Amino acid sequence: MNPGVDDLKAAFPIFASAPRPFHYLDNAATSQICRPALEALLRFEGQERANVKRGVYRLADAATRAYEQARSRIAAYIGASKPREIVFTSGATLALNMAAHLLEPRLGRGDHILVSVAEHHSNLVPWQMAAERRGARLTALAVDREGRIRIAELERHLTARTRIVALTHISNVTGLITDLRPVAEAAHRVGAVLVVDGAQGPPHGPLLVRELGCDLYAFSAHKMFAATGAGVLWIREELLDELPPFLGGGEMVARVTIPQTRYAEAPRRFEAGTPPIGPILALGAAAEWLMGLDWTVIRGRERALLDKLLHELSRLSGVRLVGPCESEGRVGIVAFVVDGVHPHDVCQMLDQLGLCLRGGHHCAQPLMDAFGVEATVRASLAPYNDEEDIDALVEGLRWTIRRLR
Ligand code: PLP
Repeated sequence: MNPGVDDLKAAFPIFASAPRPFHYLDNAATSQICRPALEALLRFEGQERANVKRGVYRLADAATRAYEQARSRIAAYIGASKPREIVFTSGATLALNMAAHLLEPRLGRGDHILVSVAEHHSNLVPWQMAAERRGARLTALAVDREGRIRIAELERHLTARTRIVALTHISNVTGLITDLRPVAEAAHRVGAVLVVDGAQGPPHGPLLVRELGCDLYAFSAHKMFAATGAGVLWIREELLDELPPFLGGGEMVARVTIPQTRYAEAPRRFEAGTPPIGPILALGAAAEWLMGLDWTVIRGRERALLDKLLHELSRLSGVRLVGPCESEGRVGIVAFVVDGVHPHDVCQMLDQLGLCLRGGHHCAQPLMDAFGVEATVRASLAPYNDEEDIDALVEGLRWTIRRLR
């Protein structure tokens, strides 16, 4: 039977133990761990711990089988065509840096990488570094006043020298969802690959990564209700065997001699050394649990909460939304500023009322520049949030504004 979605807080241990009041609205930074993921982590570390891919004794064999089962569960959750397309990393940041290193040999002097102004620094800095190493050129699609990536300008940027297009799936500042399909088609027409920063994608429900049309897709476990320390780089199967390894070391090899090494098949060749086994098992458990939820209901509820939040914020005098005012085409992530009060001060005041929100540039300084602000407050929703959280936030903002302005 599907777990009930009416009291999802019960499936997240922190809500039973945190001092009251507690309104967690910083899910785009990290979400809370669900019970199945926490139990998988504790079971592995406390009772079933052994290294993977090497021992032949039963404990090690069981760990390896659990690790590969996690790969299959995560492949199912994101709609990969084969488990071998899932490469485990320590998080989205490593996955995107890995993508940059794997694709770097395709870049020659004067070649071109296209990103957007809406990127998280994790999907910008690695490409700047790769461009610098190879003498390539990097340009960025602009955004409109509400932060929407100007996909219509794609054709103007793409050339026969474009090798890589790297875009966000969902903005961690505005929650806007990028329409990736036309981007993938245009990128493929000029022979470029499309890398997608999916850090904010899987936390909002299962997806069909192949239907997005991209070639590589990166995300983190800790935003997907699992543990910190694990992440995924999905690589389209057609590319898997073409790409060179990134890190060298144990378990990524088929045969090593002093002069040279023959590498193992993918995905092993991309997973050098001991992986974050416990967090990966936790991610597998989270994916399995999330698959059993009714996402039509959850998405409907998130949309209703987002509508309510946008409506309430737009009525608060002194509060200005940064990004769109409506809920169409986005998930529950909302940035705003309080006139005359620094976002850090707003967040510290809200903290006194048990409200956890992030204030800052959200590792998206070019987007902040485009909005003409240095920083914002950000509220970001997860399936366990409810109307009480929104009411507490709105009340907390009223109180903050009365005290600080
Ligand atoms: N990309 C986006 C859109 C993000 O929101 C984040 C984290 O906030 C990242 C990349 C980096 O994720 P991590 O810090 O888990 O590696």
